[in-house]
Amino acid sequence: MKIEPQHVVSLTYNLYVDQDGTENLVEKTTEEQPLTFLYGAGQMLPRFEENLSTLSTGDTFDFRLPAADAYGEYDDEAVANLPKEMFEGQDLPEIGSLLPLQDNQGNHFQGQVVSVVEDAVIVDLNHPMAGQELHFTGNVLNVRPATPEELSHGHAHGADGHHGH
Ligand SMILES: [Zn+2]
Repeated sequence: MKIEPQHVVSLTYNLYVDQDGTENLVEKTTEEQPLTFLYGAGQMLPRFEENLSTLSTGDTFDFRLPAADAYGEYDDEAVANLPKEMFEGQDLPEIGSLLPLQDNQGNHFQGQVVSVVEDAVIVDLNHPMAGQELHFTGNVLNVRPATPEELSHGHAHGADGHHGH
């Protein structure tokens, strides 16, 4: 079956990124635990879905997403100064640790602590994969029409559609 919107896709993929001039495997899914998602529902990177748009069950893929089409270019300005009062009554976070944060729209994201100065904790708000080209290879294991329940929820309910909630 061909991949198209309102279908649930199960696939395996390997994700490689360039680190210090060599390509390293940073994520991997298996046939036992494939990535299963509702195609066209906005859960995946748009250009990731675009690269799958011509594929069908049994096809393989191998494509690269430049940083701009993945998690964005690294932005030197994307840092926040969190006043130390925010951490009153608790230990200050360690450099390198990830803090759960929330923006004005209620979106959750993580910031990585880069330094602690006199009155503030400085946090890098870039996505951990910002500035990196993503190289995906993999196999399309299955494509099936989404169930009415999945369409109303806007997400897939597992490879067979029976893990409802
Ligand atoms: Zn659901």
